[in-house]
Amino acid sequence: MDTEPTNTPKTAKESTRAGNYFISNYPPFSFWSEDQAVEVEIALNSEPDPNAKLGVYHHIPFCRKRCHFCYFRVYTDKNAKQIQEYLDGTIQELKNMAERPLIKGRKPHFVYFGGGTPSYLSAKQLGVLTDQMKAILPWDEAEEVAFECEPGTLNPSKLTAVKEIGVTRLSLGVENFDDHILQINGRAHRGPEVYRAYERARAENFDQINIDLIAGMLEETEENWQRNIEETIKLSPDSVTIYQMEIPYNTGIYKEMKASGKLEAPVADWQTKRRWVKEAFAALESAGYSVSSGYTAVKDPQKTKFVYRDELWSGADLLGLGVASFSHAAGVHYQNMTEIEPYLKSIAAGELPLKRAFRTNEEERMIREFILQMKLGKVELGYFTEKFGVNMADRFSEQLTGLSDEGLLTVEDDAVLLNRDGLLCVDNLLHDFFLKQHRTSQIV
Ligand code: SF4
Repeated sequence: MDTEPTNTPKTAKESTRAGNYFISNYPPFSFWSEDQAVEVEIALNSEPDPNAKLGVYHHIPFCRKRCHFCYFRVYTDKNAKQIQEYLDGTIQELKNMAERPLIKGRKPHFVYFGGGTPSYLSAKQLGVLTDQMKAILPWDEAEEVAFECEPGTLNPSKLTAVKEIGVTRLSLGVENFDDHILQINGRAHRGPEVYRAYERARAENFDQINIDLIAGMLEETEENWQRNIEETIKLSPDSVTIYQMEIPYNTGIYKEMKASGKLEAPVADWQTKRRWVKEAFAALESAGYSVSSGYTAVKDPQKTKFVYRDELWSGADLLGLGVASFSHAAGVHYQNMTEIEPYLKSIAAGELPLKRAFRTNEEERMIREFILQMKLGKVELGYFTEKFGVNMADRFSEQLTGLSDEGLLTVEDDAVLLNRDGLLCVDNLLHDFFLKQHRTSQIV
């Protein structure tokens, strides 16, 4: 056995310190390197696995304002010409990629516009961008086209344009309903814009509207959190996603902590944030929702899917376009350059705009899927026996017994089932399943 569990209780009451909590990939980014560029070339020049679906992620790194908790590379100062140059660069990148054997002739099963703020683009820019994308890689067979929005950017004509380009899942970054909390956390929008955007989005009849909330923003209170839950339920979105506030090192909040010599972030501790999400999930369940992951509750589990998440967590190929975007190509992880200028230069030279990469082996891919699927609260063991020929209950018996003894999950004949407490601290559990050489406190 080359992995061993940690001894720290997963549900301990701990203050929020700087660092990454949320695990979005495996092996950790700190193991990806520039030296593996050749692996990306090999992957892109290989034939696709007929069982792997293809997704496209397009990154729009522009925002009206930088939120104090934001850890993404975003620009708030680009003019229309610079934005157009960036969009043209992403189209050139797509053209280059669409000729590679791994991508050529495939149709995306899902498309995701993330950021930054995709809804920062004008209706015209969105129309032109997506027409160009569709001409290169038609997405007429896509089961889902997801699009992230900042409520204050959604005027009626923008929403009509978003609907017309084929978006099926509209995600509203509400985060909080209180104007003071939005302001103190550096958000660009205010409460009234949330209600207006939601009403207009409903009028456009999107298949699915998701609302994002964050538990534990600066100055969050018990009373206000309850109000967030009530307001969310009143709006009745198809899906609600709740993140627990984390303070990565590249956030404005961390910079202030560092300047004043503080180790603890001025936000609620982890136990309080977990309780807040627990209360929100319980209230949503009372209102008819089902909890479908450690972060999400959906109104109708039969109808409300999240294809991007589910495909990514079961090994799909992902073609990431744009600055800082992440891709997964035939078992090779890679990330694009994180600054616009070198990214555009590299694209113009016909090169891969690569920052870092990592070729996974089969064991790493298996662990990746296992830990990501743990976030759903249920891991089907049969899936892993069939795909990797491994009984995960045996492979990870030590870790699973430890977590079961802590009262966070049970192992049944055919599945690993996390209970609510396990699900609410799921990102804390996942390190136990990492290979020894990947166990590090530095996740990014
Ligand atoms: S809107 Fe999102 S991407 Fe933009 S600054 Fe805020 S958190 Fe970051």
